[in-house]
Amino acid sequence: MEIITSKKEITHYTKFLKSSNKKISLIPTMGNLHDGHLSLIKSSEDYESIKIASLFVNPLQFNSKEDFKNYPSTIDKDIKILQKNNIDCLFMPDKNDILPKDFENIKLPWGFNNLLCGKYRPGHFEGVYIIVKQLIDAINPDYMFFGEKDYQQLLLIKYIHQEFYKNINKLLIISCPTIRDASGLALSSRNNLLNDKQKTLVSKKILDIRENLMDLKTPLNNDDFSIEYIEEWNLSNLHSQHGLLDIEKKLNNKKRIFLAIYVGKVRLIDNFEIQ
Ligand code: AMP
Repeated sequence: MEIITSKKEITHYTKFLKSSNKKISLIPTMGNLHDGHLSLIKSSEDYESIKIASLFVNPLQFNSKEDFKNYPSTIDKDIKILQKNNIDCLFMPDKNDILPKDFENIKLPWGFNNLLCGKYRPGHFEGVYIIVKQLIDAINPDYMFFGEKDYQQLLLIKYIHQEFYKNINKLLIISCPTIRDASGLALSSRNNLLNDKQKTLVSKKILDIRENLMDLKTPLNNDDFSIEYIEEWNLSNLHSQHGLLDIEKKLNNKKRIFLAIYVGKVRLIDNFEIQ
């Protein structure tokens, strides 16, 4: 596996691949890899392509310095995992190289600052927007893989695609279902910041919410948790609130519950389809 740390070099590498008619898959991550990330890599195996994983903990998408500082990092382990899973290249840029010097004035559709996570994390989606565009422009991938666990992020990726890349190249965005542990807790790097008792309690709480939507109306907080939001959305409505123009028909009757919950200082998110 190649490890590339400069933007110039990754562009050179991918231009060379393109000139020899190779397709490129890109799997962006913030590292501390788990089976959720691996499911994206597995999905990329359905597409004949050179597999590039990126690992960059993007400071722009963290609202709190403490959250950024505490974000788990296991680079050596991640490298071994990527090698074992047949990734061809790891792009691990330095912040000064990948983040633009001048930030464009970003105006995202209403939903990204007023709904779900966007309402509670000012500037978060602008931060994601900046890094995703940098990655696409540097790498020029044919396929990109994102998890439904971060559903609103997926809407942002679809929005970026719609606005900038739809007519220029044949970039395909592939969304992958949420991978959970045996207790039903969605895998997340942040789970590593919880102790076993907290993990058990929070997965039970989320399961309660899933099984008994009554909790939606009375989201009780206690010493162990505080619920930031629990909301039910019709997906075609949610997509259009985020500026997406081509709303797939199959979304019409689909509904999802979205939630964010604090366990101590650790913030977890989840979402799942309901009937
Ligand atoms: P992260 O490293 O948390 O930024 O995540 C990188 C990618 O992996 C994003 O597209 C996430 O949505 C995806 N991802 C994270 N956790 C999961 C999970 N439990 N199941 C599926 N995809 C996930």
